[in-house]
Amino acid sequence: MARVVAKALHSRRHPILAQIVPVRRCNLSCAYCNEFDRVSRPVSTDRMIERIDRLAALGTSMVDLSGGEPLLHPDLDALVRRIRQCGMMAGLLTNGYLLTRDRIHRLNRAGLDRLQISVDNVMPDQVSRKSLKVLDAKLQLLAGHAEFDVSINSVVGAGIGPPADALVIAERALALGFGTSVGLIHDGGGGLIPLDTERRKVYDSAVALARSFYSHAHDGVFQRNLIDGKPNAWQCRAGSRYLYVCEDGLVHLCSQQRGYPGVPLDQYGPEQLEREYDSVKPCAPFCSISCVHRVSLLDEIRTHPPDAIERIVATGRQHGQAPPVTVKLLAWLFVTSRHRDTFRRLAVRAFRTGS
Ligand code: SF4
Ligand code: SF4
Repeated sequence: MARVVAKALHSRRHPILAQIVPVRRCNLSCAYCNEFDRVSRPVSTDRMIERIDRLAALGTSMVDLSGGEPLLHPDLDALVRRIRQCGMMAGLLTNGYLLTRDRIHRLNRAGLDRLQISVDNVMPDQVSRKSLKVLDAKLQLLAGHAEFDVSINSVVGAGIGPPADALVIAERALALGFGTSVGLIHDGGGGLIPLDTERRKVYDSAVALARSFYSHAHDGVFQRNLIDGKPNAWQCRAGSRYLYVCEDGLVHLCSQQRGYPGVPLDQYGPEQLEREYDSVKPCAPFCSISCVHRVSLLDEIRTHPPDAIERIVATGRQHGQAPPVTVKLLAWLFVTSRHRDTFRRLAVRAFRTGS
């Protein structure tokens, strides 16, 4: 991951993360989801390999396989292996239902780097069956056998589970040794459904448990404003630093803005990457798509390192969140140290070299 961050900070001319769909079908049907169907067949392995190779040729650092449910693809291990052979990090976004001990060992052997499961509630309900009750056995299998990083995402938002569930899920994930993150449920355009007081309290407690640099930064810079109903001023880099490649091999801005640009991946190149880097997305102020926030944050740090770090430190403090060690170190280097001007000059020079 350090290599991915270093490459992203050094240059803006490649995608940091691509999400690619090997099968649109899903074995579940969560009520809030607009990213699955019940009928489509898996994309052929040859086609998927061509798409992975094309992403590598564009200089992509990380490829996440998503869906639908990617474990429904019969050759998923081969796809993971190809991503790794191309020198990219391989990730898997799954609902976890189809994980078995054997499946986890196969993913280990294929070289999977990271896996994320979203757990929506403690008990299954009409909205979602991605519940801790059903998935806990799968999480225990992962804790015992996975050689890749596992992250459990809980969600807070209107219309999903009892609010306190997000905290129970985050605590269980930590007890099993996994990373955690807490997301805000988004509407069909990527925007936010506002949180009530009870959900805000749960959100605060769950975020306090997720103590990585990215969770802290993402919370302070993006999610706080959204749960307060305020817009974020940021440049969405979707279509450039983040690509969403659907089952038909078309590049879209993200899962919630499918249809634009809708260009076949084999015709997507430096010209499109450059155009979308600076294009203004009208949906950005209230966007809650966390993976795009996170890659865009790297460009904010790359272009204005001292200001971005100061903002991450300040917003966390303002909301009473204790910063993780990495944020404390950056705060010392760029904000409180006697030599902060020197560190700032060095950072500006280092990050801008390859831009
Ligand atoms: S498991 Fe994921 S892809 Fe399937 S319906 Fe639920 S949210 Fe959508
Ligand atoms: S701002 Fe970017 S990531 Fe968010 S919905 Fe719009 S295009 Fe997608």
